[in-house]
Amino acid sequence: MKCFNHPDREAVATCQKCGKGLCKECAQKYTPCMCESCAEKAQHDQQQQAQNKEEQRKQKYKDALVDSRSEFIKTTIIGIVIASICIWYSYHYQQSLTEDYSLGDWIGQFLLWVCVPFGWKVLTYLQSFIPISIFGTWWFWIIYIGVKAFLSILVGIPAFIYQLVKTILTQRKINKLS
Ligand SMILES: [Zn+2]
Ligand SMILES: [Zn+2]
Repeated sequence: MKCFNHPDREAVATCQKCGKGLCKECAQKYTPCMCESCAEKAQHDQQQQAQNKEEQRKQKYKDALVDSRSEFIKTTIIGIVIASICIWYSYHYQQSLTEDYSLGDWIGQFLLWVCVPFGWKVLTYLQSFIPISIFGTWWFWIIYIGVKAFLSILVGIPAFIYQLVKTILTQRKINKLS
């Protein structure tokens, strides 16, 4: 067999991809042993792969950002449900407390309750840093949930503002990426 590039030379090796004959000089050009066109193709494929990986990485990142947005919407909806129940309850069963309420008071109450699940989420997040696993009887859980709910009300509004800002910044990142 003769070298594919040099018809006057005897082939000493073959291209690993296509089996073309290669002389000594041509065989030493690439590792593993490849002809010119196969080496170019391999390099191109490699670049393509790297590009695909980069695109996949971007897509994953984008998906994660979209996740945080849908999470925000979900939490807001939960907040609105909780707020509606609480307002309905106060309106019907706590009239002695709420009879002097102005519309502004009601709106304030509503917004306070909407923020509660955001506070709850922040507390759950902070809890993940505490290296003890909590376990107990049913009354322990009632106290635990009660305390957590109470703290959620306290941290709800700042937690909501934090999440809102984060979601807006995330949206900007998504717009930049696409
Ligand atoms: Zn080849
Ligand atoms: Zn050659």
